[in-house]
Amino acid sequence: MMPAAGKGCHSRKPVLTSPAMNDRPTPATPPPGLDDVRAAAARIRGRAVRTPLRLSTPLSDALGVRVHHKIESMQHTGAFKLRGAFNALLSLDEAARQKGVICVSTGNHGRGVAFAARELGIKAAVCMSELVPSVKVEAIRALDADVRIGGASQDEAERRMMAMIEDEGLTYVSPFDDAAVIAGQGTIGLEIFEDLAEVRTCLVPLSGGGLIAGVAVALKALKPDVRLIGVTMENGAAMVESLKAGQPVQVEEVESLADSLGGGIGLDNRHTFRLCRDLVDETVLVSEEEIADAMAWLYWQDRLVTEGGAAVGVAALRSGRVKDLDGPVANVVTGANVEMQVFTNIVTERRP
Ligand SMILES: *Cc1c(COP(=O)(O)O)cnc(C)c1O
Repeated sequence: MMPAAGKGCHSRKPVLTSPAMNDRPTPATPPPGLDDVRAAAARIRGRAVRTPLRLSTPLSDALGVRVHHKIESMQHTGAFKLRGAFNALLSLDEAARQKGVICVSTGNHGRGVAFAARELGIKAAVCMSELVPSVKVEAIRALDADVRIGGASQDEAERRMMAMIEDEGLTYVSPFDDAAVIAGQGTIGLEIFEDLAEVRTCLVPLSGGGLIAGVAVALKALKPDVRLIGVTMENGAAMVESLKAGQPVQVEEVESLADSLGGGIGLDNRHTFRLCRDLVDETVLVSEEEIADAMAWLYWQDRLVTEGGAAVGVAALRSGRVKDLDGPVANVVTGANVEMQVFTNIVTERRP
């Protein structure tokens, strides 16, 4: 997802979405179910890392409840989005495979699509606006993606991408609102259940909702009484505002340490809004300081390098924002793609 930088409006008021989002093609696919997640698990086996679910002794001791981290920061490309990308690409028919795929992303989704495409011998185009810093461009180019820079904003980059889909017959891969992507992310829920069938509470970072929707589809089917909590930053929480409004709304983006949680859910949202509304038990918002504290905690106590968006579960737990916590807890640590200068500043300023 695009970083919030440069969109420095601090209003959280819902605003109308861009025309590009409304124009996006909306094939009528049914929402994924447990069988789709199981099929995804079989497809991506041996391609995505089956990450460990590791007990955090320090966090368990601090909270008096057993807390386990699902360590997706160990995933290839440094984030869980590879799972959804692999499942989406492996679900394409031969004609679509031949033509290639396209997405708009400067971050973890772009890396996931580029990596999966290279592994599978599929062409991947990744669109970005002219504002994207060159380090992000190079990270995706290094995965052999066809990086296409154009447009003075994310909206413009999206509009340009729509034209390329038409002209070149490329298949669009959504970062979250796609049945195959959701099913791919849902393999995390399957693995949590395999490793910790007695799980009582599950915390999942929330942005567009592909991850938590997938985890919900798997985990709620296998363990209906699990308490599923979506966690996001308090500034610019599009899904939380949408759930409150009872329909998808767009919020103004605000800069956050959790840059991978930025972006809208799309006014024409097909799957994730409904799945979140129906399956997620509650949402929790965390502050920037709580996110920084959690990144430092994860580093000094658990020896994990995490990006802001991956640390929000620990932020919610450590700030006491989750009431009546019941264990064992599974907390999804979603990624490690943080600029190391930012990271070292945060952790050295918070040395215990
Ligand atoms: C994309 C992302 C999320 C949020 O996933 P959604 O499916 O958009 O809700 C959380 N953490 C990281 C590191 C991500 O890249």
